[in-house]
Amino acid sequence: MQCPICGKKIQDNMPFCSKTCQLIDLNRWFKGNYRIQTDEKPNETEVQSELSQSHLTEQDGT
Ligand SMILES: [Zn+2]
Repeated sequence: MQCPICGKKIQDNMPFCSKTCQLIDLNRWFKGNYRIQTDEKPNETEVQSELSQSHLTEQDGT
């Protein structure tokens, strides 16, 4: 079996050769997840308008 991160041979029955590679894979997965989330709102103006909207509703609530 080979490590999916660095390509080293894995001797133990582990998905990665080391904890470092495990962390790197976790990091990649995390970044990928983050990208998908930000992909929905790529425009800063959209975020800003949403922020001002939530601000308005917050004032309306009280
Ligand atoms: Zn590795």
